[in-house]
Amino acid sequence: MNRSTTNRSETFVWPVAYSLAWLLCAYIALELTQGEDGIAAVWPSSGIFVASLLHLSGKGRMAVTAGVGIASLVANYISGVSLLACFGYTVANLAEGWLVFYLMGGETSRGKLLARPLNLIRFAASAAVVSVFSAGVAGILSANFDLEFLISWATTVGLGMMIVAPFILFLVQSDEGRRRLTSMRTVWALMLVAVASLAAFGQSEVPLLFLPVLAISIATAALGLSGAALSLLVVAVIGSILTVYDLGPVSGYFELQGQKVLFLQVYFLGLLVSALPVALMLTQRQNDLVKLSRSNRFLTAAEKAAKVGHWRYAPVEGPVYLSPEARRMVGYDTQPHTVADIAELFQDSDRKRVSHILLQSLATGVPFVFEARIAGPYGELFDTECRGEVEWSDDPNKISIFGTMMDITDRANTVRELANARAHAERKADEHRALAETDHLTGIANRRKILADLERTVLDMRGTGENIALAIVDVDHFKSVNDRFGHEAGDRTLQQIARILFDRFDDIGHVGRIGGEEFLVVARGTSAREVDQRCNDLRDYLRAYAWPVEGLDELTLSIGIAELAEGASETDILNAADKALYFAKRGGRNRSVVFEGNLVRV
Ligand code: GH3
Ligand code: MG
Ligand code: MG
Repeated sequence: MNRSTTNRSETFVWPVAYSLAWLLCAYIALELTQGEDGIAAVWPSSGIFVASLLHLSGKGRMAVTAGVGIASLVANYISGVSLLACFGYTVANLAEGWLVFYLMGGETSRGKLLARPLNLIRFAASAAVVSVFSAGVAGILSANFDLEFLISWATTVGLGMMIVAPFILFLVQSDEGRRRLTSMRTVWALMLVAVASLAAFGQSEVPLLFLPVLAISIATAALGLSGAALSLLVVAVIGSILTVYDLGPVSGYFELQGQKVLFLQVYFLGLLVSALPVALMLTQRQNDLVKLSRSNRFLTAAEKAAKVGHWRYAPVEGPVYLSPEARRMVGYDTQPHTVADIAELFQDSDRKRVSHILLQSLATGVPFVFEARIAGPYGELFDTECRGEVEWSDDPNKISIFGTMMDITDRANTVRELANARAHAERKADEHRALAETDHLTGIANRRKILADLERTVLDMRGTGENIALAIVDVDHFKSVNDRFGHEAGDRTLQQIARILFDRFDDIGHVGRIGGEEFLVVARGTSAREVDQRCNDLRDYLRAYAWPVEGLDELTLSIGIAELAEGASETDILNAADKALYFAKRGGRNRSVVFEGNLVRV
């Protein structure tokens, strides 16, 4: 509905509808009581006007006031009331409605009459006070001070407001109320009320006035406030009409018209008062239910936003309760019944652990926290953080367990991605480090690495009393290999030499390439003599070695060996080995020389 239609209905359609309803009810009431001293039992029009004021906005209220004013003048005039009285009654009719409106809190009361039971009580009190006031205004302005007239005016107006206004507001303001009124239940309840009213007021043989009370109670219990209001209306209409036509117990008991009306009014008031508490209680319950369902909606929304579900397992209460968000995670078709079933919600590898944690918590009463993965309904995996505690009871059968499950898949994925990225970076760093420490031609440690190994070994050995022996291995006349067979053949030969050295010395230390055709062996926990022995064995081995280069028959090595003296540095030992190598070369090559103090033993 757009704004202009809203405005039109507020300022025109509704006011006209209310005014016509007012006119119709007034006409019927006046017609019915014509010839009966003009006294009605209920004046429904007063309820219609009050309802319209409590329903419509400012402009709507002005329009309906004008409409009802005209309707009042017309209705009274048609029924033969004098012009002065027409005017007086009309002012009273309008004033009473506005007074109730202000007593209910004016503009702020709009739409709130049915919101709280207390408002209804306030309304009944306002209606009672205002109806007396209205009688006074009508009396003064129409110059009619007949007491019976004044009392009758007040009671009919009061009852009209109390019976009709809540019902109309219920209809126009509550979608739920309207829906309920069109249900079969309503039809049955009203039929019951109508039958009870006809039975009570249609004959005077058997006193059955209690029947409508019973019927109204049933209708109220079944339909709430709307049932109470509508039932009262039905009883009032049927009761009044039948009584006007001289039927029923009221006509039988009383002679005078005034007595009949008074009896009816007291009777209606009795009905109203007896139906009200149940109606209020039901309204209160309805309000509580609305509040509860709203809190539940908020809880569900909060759970969804936070991705936290909750569950509760109380063996005596039946299956495990799962909140909507918990259901989203575990699947809507899953219904656990036991602790074992709860553990089943988690993926295979977590089940045993989860089951153990839950049983442990049940046995000790200690709260639990764990992370585990849930296998979702479509095979997707949720990482969850589960927390909970046991609701303890002395009766072991009444122990229950309450838990939450938080979907931490995003967080867990981030952690996993970080771990993967870190592992990848570490792998890459390892690769780069290895590359930086590897001799690209031979694949063994390069100069930087073997010297670092030497430095670390020296540090490790310090104070342990262990030996470190070095061997610098230099290929004899290697230049000639290149010259004779080419650089590529020289490379292959160097690779071969590196492999042989690695095979023969790796078990006692590190082997690396420190220069073109120069290699270094760092032997730990080994004496120079042992290294020397190995070197001699190596040279023997090479004597008949088949080199992978055609035409290369013999290749010899010169080796300088030194052992670390206590307190010496790695530079000292390197220099010593170098010196020994020099002597090996000078001594004619193809030999190993051990450095011993200043003496070099060949
Ligand atoms: P000496 O017995 O005095 O050690 O004679 P030598 O020829 O081995 O010694 P020198 O130091 O004069 O020459 C080393 C030669 O090693 C020089 C170079 O041609 C060769 N060489 C060094 N690095 C490489 C390499 O990576 N590949 C090849 N193919 N040859 C290399
Ligand atoms: Mg050399
Ligand atoms: Mg050489």
